[in-house]
Amino acid sequence: MKDIILTGDRPTGNLHLGHFIGSLKKRIELQNEGNYEKYYIMIADTQALTDNAQRVDKVKNNIIQVAIDYISAGIDPKKVNIFIQSMVSELHEFTSYFMNLVTLSRLQRNPTIKEEIKQRGFETSLPIGFINYPISQAADILAFGTTIAPVGGDQMPMFEQAREIVNSFNNTYKPQEEVFVMPKAIVSENKLFQRLPGLDGKLKMSKSAGNSIYLCDDEATVREKVMKAYTDANHLKVTDPGQIEGNVVFTYLDAFCREEHFARFLPEYENLDQLKEHYRRGGLGDVKVKKFLVNVLEDFLAPIRERRKECLNHIDEIYNMLFENSRLASIDAKERLEKMKDAMGLNYKKFLK
Ligand code: ATP
Ligand code: MG
Repeated sequence: MKDIILTGDRPTGNLHLGHFIGSLKKRIELQNEGNYEKYYIMIADTQALTDNAQRVDKVKNNIIQVAIDYISAGIDPKKVNIFIQSMVSELHEFTSYFMNLVTLSRLQRNPTIKEEIKQRGFETSLPIGFINYPISQAADILAFGTTIAPVGGDQMPMFEQAREIVNSFNNTYKPQEEVFVMPKAIVSENKLFQRLPGLDGKLKMSKSAGNSIYLCDDEATVREKVMKAYTDANHLKVTDPGQIEGNVVFTYLDAFCREEHFARFLPEYENLDQLKEHYRRGGLGDVKVKKFLVNVLEDFLAPIRERRKECLNHIDEIYNMLFENSRLASIDAKERLEKMKDAMGLNYKKFLK
């Protein structure tokens, strides 16, 4: 059986390097391999509203931004159905029925939710919609029969929750035919890329934390951000030995630098191992490494920026593509919704003679 792929992003801002390395890169690889039955990417506006209820405009305006980021980074809307979550109303119905299968204490134990509640200061003002979003996300995943999803590490607990809902649904309603498929999260083998750190070196790179390099940042902005990035607090003089672990400049190099970059931008070294070795030994300054990183990032970002410019001339087309894809996604979701209701015994039309 071929895979059904689904992933998504919250339209709370532009996409950043963390999105790319944690999920988007793999999404593009899967798209180009072409070995799937269906492929959806959802712009999760409903989910974004769970902690942005008063900022509808921000969420609304970022839908097109995220869509442009996808296309500029290499997602092909002809191969992938990019849709808007709130335009597929069936997802709310799945959510409603799933809510009866999950306890509040289970949601409260979700480690990603726990961390996000703290980060957002929701301890005493927790919106029900926010704590409920793992259930709504399970609905997104299960509605389409998702088999795999390339995501960042923070999404693992969401997939665990979705799988528990499948089990609970099966135990409760004992469907004669399979309704929901067990979904699997695909995460990067490199732990650092599952949760790319932000420029501050503390939190994960995140739209909400203001510690990101965005795919749409211009060259001067990238340079300015990299020059302020956290390295090693004890590496004060060039001659001091430096530490690689926890040094975000080296983490970003791990993620984006290729051997050919050395020949082009830093020919004194052959590869990243040599550069790291010199840094550890002492005698290599942060500024030199940072300048190299700017070149490496520019090599990656400049073509994305070019395609973004091109997209800006096709805004109406992109919106129309999103609307049409949402209509198609709605048809797909409805099919499984009917199956689900049948399995639950919610098929009142059978009373008609
Ligand atoms: P917000 O701050 O609004 O939650 P975000 O930056 O966390 O935004 P999301 O839209 O929540 O981004 O995440 C979209 C996808 O990108 C998810 O699969 C998530 O795991 C992944 N992702 C987000 N940030 C990172 C990161 N720093 N490293 C790796 N993957 C990430
Ligand atoms: Mg997030």
